[in-house]
Amino acid sequence: MADLEDLYRETILDHNKRPRNHRKLEGAHRSAKGFNPLCGDRVTVSLKLDGDVVQEVVFEGSGCAISTASASLMTVALKGKTLTEARALFEKFHGMVTGDPTDTESEVDQSLGKLRVFSGVCEFPARIKCATLAWHTVQAALNSADHENETVSTE
Ligand code: ZN
Repeated sequence: MADLEDLYRETILDHNKRPRNHRKLEGAHRSAKGFNPLCGDRVTVSLKLDGDVVQEVVFEGSGCAISTASASLMTVALKGKTLTEARALFEKFHGMVTGDPTDTESEVDQSLGKLRVFSGVCEFPARIKCATLAWHTVQAALNSADHENETVSTE
């Protein structure tokens, strides 16, 4: 499993160093801010919808490597998804990072794709909120009415 862990660590470091979709979004339909006081992570997620499809999703803000990489990978994963698919992915992701640390790789939901790099987070309870912050924030954005600015805290 060491090789896989190395690969996961590299992916997280890469997304922390060169976060994808880390920018402002002009004319965003939905937006929400998230804050994780345990670690000091701050993230603002903005998105554009085309009907019920996530057309664009970006994030701003700064935090630890886990929160930044998680937000980056999330934006990649959510683009082009329907709202129903996006919510289902959130549930799966949340289930994985809060899951049983003794689960082996093969027990992790393969449909999570690259998001599986966070499967080891469940071993570090203090980091779970870092990994889920952007996801809670995008849920708040999706649940908000158009043009409202929601703020969520993981506390
Ligand atoms: Zn953090």
